[in-house]
Amino acid sequence: MRCGEIIAVGSELLLGGRLDTNSLFLTERLGPVGVEVRFKSVVGDVEDDIVAAIRTAARRADVVVLTGGLGPTVDDRTRQAVARATGCPLSRRPEALEGMRRRLATWGRPPTAAQLRQALIPKGAEVLANPVGSAPGFRLSWKSCLIVALPGVPAEAEQMFFLAVAPELAAESAAHERIERRVLHTFGLPESDLDGKLQGVVRAGRGVRLGLLASPLGVTVTLTACGAHPGTPKAPKAGRNARESVLDRLTRIVRRRIGRYVYAEGAETMEEVVGRYLADQGLRLAVAESCTGGLIGHRLTQVPGSSTYLDRVAVCYSNQAKIELLGVPEDLMRQHGAVSAEVAAAMARGIRIRSHAGVGLSVTGIAGPGGGTVMKPVGLVYVGLDTGENDRSVTREFRFHGDRQAIKMRASQAALEMLRRWLVRTGARVRS
Ligand code: ATP
Ligand code: MG
Repeated sequence: MRCGEIIAVGSELLLGGRLDTNSLFLTERLGPVGVEVRFKSVVGDVEDDIVAAIRTAARRADVVVLTGGLGPTVDDRTRQAVARATGCPLSRRPEALEGMRRRLATWGRPPTAAQLRQALIPKGAEVLANPVGSAPGFRLSWKSCLIVALPGVPAEAEQMFFLAVAPELAAESAAHERIERRVLHTFGLPESDLDGKLQGVVRAGRGVRLGLLASPLGVTVTLTACGAHPGTPKAPKAGRNARESVLDRLTRIVRRRIGRYVYAEGAETMEEVVGRYLADQGLRLAVAESCTGGLIGHRLTQVPGSSTYLDRVAVCYSNQAKIELLGVPEDLMRQHGAVSAEVAAAMARGIRIRSHAGVGLSVTGIAGPGGGTVMKPVGLVYVGLDTGENDRSVTREFRFHGDRQAIKMRASQAALEMLRRWLVRTGARVRS
């Protein structure tokens, strides 16, 4: 397994408010091509600092990926810094110039003098074309290290990494040295309970690591088979296929223990899973949201093709809106309060009947930080589900913790999970 280091360049990343997100996708994508990221650093647009960061990285890593500072402005210093750190002087490269001219021509602009500086590339480096923006990147083999420089704009860095960097790294890495991973997303069981249920699944020193990561969307369980590298468990000597079957076997064991809490695997999201079930079963959904303020609707409509199963989403924040748009009886709210199982049920029923959709989903709760009482504290959320079955809506009560954003996210996830579980049951009933 080769050792990787990422250097994010940009003073804006050190001022607060702007996050280095490039290193997140780079870290995720480097493992499968045989590079384990062991270090990350963030440096401002100060040439001396970038030079120092490159020298340090090149001493301890086999692959160094820089992002940012390749642009045309005076504060873009990455080219010069690589040239100084490696002693490979900059020269204007025709292939870099040509790619840049072509790209700018499609925008109807000749290159400015500043942009021409972007064609200055360290001697011996291979130019990486930028299919999205104007600044080319480059890769340079220096001593025993590979130095890759990509632009800072995330879309450009990602495209160039996929097109020009990942394939070569994959070809250079031995199959058994790549990081293989299975990811299971769960909701409804606290991290400590999951941990208890998964005791003994992965035995130490067998080359597979089990990881749990909690967020408002639930707990993610990761099984990682990693290559041999100092500090990481020894990989099984066998090749990729054998390791995949080890991961598949362990994934089956994990599913046997906690399967009912697993809502998705890999990169799939809850909203995609729910959408897939609704589409498969030919059902249409209508949603009535109070405390989530449209978050469920936003998440569902993030999925392309959601119009085939999503009928409508009503954000009914005030009592009046619940009366007017959903037909929730005023008396019911006076008697039980807007945050109650009774009102959640009436909301789900109301949106389903008014929309003629097959399924009605509702959420009402207290997102905080104010508005809580002893009887109804911040984080109290009711989810309602109305499917016309048995002539009654089903409701569930949740008590979430966290700030306003986390409670809204948890509430949206709980509602979608309740819908998912019903869809799984009806799907199974239809099949049997
Ligand atoms: P270009 O000038 O060709 O766009 P560049 O390499 O000079 O590319 P920068 O000027 O450093 O890029 O950054 C361009 C944009 O990308 C800025 O909005 C910056 O905040 C953002 N950006 C830079 N580095 C990162 C990073 N590590 N993570 C997320 N965004 C980044
Ligand atoms: Mg910059």
